[in-house]
This record gives sequence, C-alpha cells and structure tokens, in this order.
Amino acid sequence: MSTDLSWRDSALCAQTDPEAYYPEVGGSAVPAKRTCMACPVRPACLDYALATGQRWGVWGGLTQKELRRLINQRTAA
Ligand code: SF4
Repeated sequence: MSTDLSWRDSALCAQTDPEAYYPEVGGSAVPAKRTCMACPVRPACLDYALATGQRWGVWGGLTQKELRRLINQRTAA
C-alpha cells in the first residue's frame, strides 16, 4: 500500500458535509456518492479504503455495504 496520502488534499468531500459520508441506518448515501462520482481522487480513495479495510462510511463512491461486498469478494477469490 502506498503511504502517499496527498490525494486527500484534492478530496471533494473535504468541501462538503462530512456527516453525509456516514449516513445513519436507513439514511441515504446518495448525496455522498454523487460527490464521489465527481471527485478527482476517487480511485486513490477507493484503493486506500480497500487497502486499509475501511468498513464504515462512503469511500471512493461505494457505500459501506458495497465496500464490504467488494472486500469479501476479494478475500474469497
Ligand atoms: S471519492 Fe468520495 S470519499 Fe473519496 S475522497 Fe473523493 S469525495 Fe471523498
């Protein structure tokens, strides 16, 4: 895993409401995901989330459920 975290400097979420990335149960992740889709560092963010096993919140445009599914698929392969 790269230790270069400079991608965070360009993170669009840093300019928005951080709570949107950790929606409560039953809450919508759509606003956060929408921002992620326009974020220039989405691939680096997703790589980081997968490399560090992030299982909470929206990372790289994926919800925590989608992230867990991807992590599980990778570990099962
Ligand atoms: S992809 Fe989403 S969560 Fe990741 S840095 Fe960009 S806006 Fe933030």
